[in-house]
Amino acid sequence: MIDETLVGRERAALMANYRRQPVAFVRGEGAHLYDADGRRYVDCMAGISMINAGHCHPEVVEAIRAQAGRLLNVSNLYYTEPMVALAEWIRDNSMEGRVFFCNSGAEANEAALKLVRKHAGPERPEVVALVDGFHGRTYGALSLTGQPDKQAAFAPLVPGVRHVERDDLQGLADAVSDRTAAIFLEVVQGEVGVHPVPHEMLRLARDLADRHGALLVLDEVQTGLSRTGPLWGYQDVGVEPDVMCLAKSLGGGVPIGAITARPPYDAVFAPGDHGSTFAGGPLACAAALASCRVLADPALQSGVRAKGARLLAGLRGLVEAGLATEARGRGLMCAIDLPRPRAAEAVAGLLEAGYLANNTSARTLRFLPPLVVEETDLDGLVAALGEVLAHT
Ligand code: PLP
Repeated sequence: MIDETLVGRERAALMANYRRQPVAFVRGEGAHLYDADGRRYVDCMAGISMINAGHCHPEVVEAIRAQAGRLLNVSNLYYTEPMVALAEWIRDNSMEGRVFFCNSGAEANEAALKLVRKHAGPERPEVVALVDGFHGRTYGALSLTGQPDKQAAFAPLVPGVRHVERDDLQGLADAVSDRTAAIFLEVVQGEVGVHPVPHEMLRLARDLADRHGALLVLDEVQTGLSRTGPLWGYQDVGVEPDVMCLAKSLGGGVPIGAITARPPYDAVFAPGDHGSTFAGGPLACAAALASCRVLADPALQSGVRAKGARLLAGLRGLVEAGLATEARGRGLMCAIDLPRPRAAEAVAGLLEAGYLANNTSARTLRFLPPLVVEETDLDGLVAALGEVLAHT
């Protein structure tokens, strides 16, 4: 298992922001990770959906190698080709409009919040988001995040955000008005345990935004890049956003975030309004373009649907066996609820069995394997989970 001296050094050198699992990885390939002793683990988290193409995908690695030998970064004071090529790819594969690059999912939501506020002006100071939603941990993104336990210690937050339950159609209708700048939604609430937002809610949000002159912002940071099957989660709903937030798997493992906005909202930002030194750098954009091309493959996407259905069926089998109370999923984004608050113990048991998962609460386990995962590994996960739950 883990070298205890590394744990001690980590404790002494890093702030205690994370509850890490007792394992250190030194290598990854596809859906597998290896520790220093060469033990293989099936990664069923993909870095929280950050590496959908799998670890060290050869095309991503090659793009990074080639770009690293030419130019790492140069700032946004100048033009670089990879940035333009990636923005073109995003536009050509999502909606008409233009792209702004940043470095993370939280930054994408910050950028979207600034964009909608500037567009709306002072007459529309309100933003509507969902209870249990997650948009990141910086101030704007945390203010959108509908989870008081994450916000409480950091008040006062950015004002003007109203939160509505994800299935409260009337609540949404009541919250959106001519004072609303934007509605921020995820298609599936991932961080809180994979809860799909009902399609009627997403359609109503589109309708209310149109009726009241507000913008619809979809946060596809976790659902994007084929995680749920289609390239973007919204494609299964038939609701198009005005602004979309991206990050995580966009970079194939390298930090990058983006927002894309339809015209005329893609013209809201002017020079000086927003920016970031690293954002859109050639290394990140070259990695991202390679990752995006891998993830947009229709064969991979139909594989996601088939493998997701297989995993969900396996998890539902555990529910039928009385080991769990509910299983949910969209593509390869799945979760299972336990009858007792033993999810952390189940994660530990799975780790011992060689599978990585995480618990989003005391009762809920989440699975986000790389999209290249083999069916045998998913079957192995379900079998291992059955064993673990029977003894937890
Ligand atoms: N938005 C969603 C939907 C997320 O799931 C996350 C992270 O889990 C974020 C935003 C924040 O992304 P980051 O951790 O890159 O800031």
